[in-house]
Amino acid sequence: MMRNIWIVATEQGEVASLINFLELKSADVTALVIGSQELAEQTARVGTAVKWIDSADQPATNFTAAAASIIQKAAPTVIVGGSSPEARAVIGSAAAALGAAVASNVISLSIEDDVICAERSVLDDKLIETLEMPIHTCLLVNALNLQPQAPSDEIVTGSIETIEAKSDGSVEYLSVEPVAASGLQTADYVVGVGLGATGGDLFNQTVKLAEVMGAEMGCSMPIYSELQLMPHETYIGLTGCKVAPKLYLALGISGTSQHCAGLRNAKTIVCVNKDPKALFFNNADYGIVGDLNDIIPALIAALS
Ligand SMILES: Cc1cc2nc3c(=O)[nH]c(=O)nc-3n(C[C@H](O)[C@H](O)[C@H](O)COP(=O)(O)OP(=O)(O)OC[C@H]3O[C@@H](n4cnc5c(N)ncnc54)[C@H](O)[C@@H]3O)c2cc1C
Repeated sequence: MMRNIWIVATEQGEVASLINFLELKSADVTALVIGSQELAEQTARVGTAVKWIDSADQPATNFTAAAASIIQKAAPTVIVGGSSPEARAVIGSAAAALGAAVASNVISLSIEDDVICAERSVLDDKLIETLEMPIHTCLLVNALNLQPQAPSDEIVTGSIETIEAKSDGSVEYLSVEPVAASGLQTADYVVGVGLGATGGDLFNQTVKLAEVMGAEMGCSMPIYSELQLMPHETYIGLTGCKVAPKLYLALGISGTSQHCAGLRNAKTIVCVNKDPKALFFNNADYGIVGDLNDIIPALIAALS
C-alpha cells in the first residue's frame, strides 16, 4: 500500500514528536502545517514534505474548514494529530469531510501490505486494544506519550508548498500571555494532596507537614475542581501544572495517568496510600501503604 500519511500540525515540534513516537519515516509523511513561516520551516527540517497554510496572526482554528477540504481532496490513507487542540479540531473536521474512521488515544501504528493497525490505550491505560482500521483513518495520538522535540538547526530539507486558504475569521485572539512559572513549578519539595487527604483534620495536617518540610503544596484535580480546597494553578497533571521537584510526596492520590503526567520531571516520588493496589505504587520510587491519619502525624513528628 502506498504510504500516504498526513500529519496536521499547528505547534512547534508536533510533527517531529509524532514521527518519532509512531516510528514513521519522514519521507513517508506529508505535514499540513497551519501557522507561521517559522513553523513551516522548522517542520520541513524533520525531512517531511510540508503543505503550509499561513495563518498570519489568526488562530489556526479559523482555517479548520479550509484544511479539512484540502485533506478531503488529497484523501490520505492515514491522517494523524497530536496534542494541540487546533490540530485535533482540524482532524475532526477532516474525518467528517472524508467519512473516515477515527481512533483516539493511539499509542502505535503499523501499515503492512494492505492492513492498517493501530493500538490504543483504554480504561486509564489498563487495556491496550489493537484495531484494524480502514483506508482513510484519522488517528489522535495519546498526548501523554509525546515527548517535545527541540527545533533542529539543520538546513531545510523537506519541500514547502504554500497553500492559499481562506480564513473563516470566526475566532479572534483577545490576548496571548505567557503563564508565569509559579513557586510550585520551580519548588524542590512538593506535597501533593489528593481526595484521600481531605477527611476530618487531614487537610490541615498536610498543610502543617508541607510547612515543616519547607515544601510547596500541589493537589490532584478534584481538590480544586470539586472541593475547591486549593486554587486552579495548584492542581498537577495532564491538564494542570507540571512540576519538577527533587521530592514529590503524594498523599491520598490514586495516581491516574492524568495526574502522573505532571510528574515526569520529578526526581523522586514517594506516595502514601491506604490501598496497596493504588495505581500510584506503579509510578512511585517509594511507597508507604498506610492510613494518612497515622502517617502524617508520624512524618511531622519525625521532621519537626
Ligand atoms: C480528561 C481528563 C483530564 C484529567 N486531568 C487531570 C489532571 O491534570 N490532574 C489530576 O490530578 N487529575 C486529572 N483528571 C482526573 C483523574 O483522572 C482522577 O480522577 C483524579 O486525579 C483523582 O484524584 P485523587 O487521586 O485525588 O482521588 P481518588 O481517585 O478518589 O483517590 C483517592 C486516593 O486516596 C486513597 N485514600 C483515601 N483515604 C485515605 C487515607 N485515609 N489514607 C491513605 N490513603 C487514602 C484512596 O485509596 C485513593 O487511592 C483528569 C480526568 C480526565 C477525564
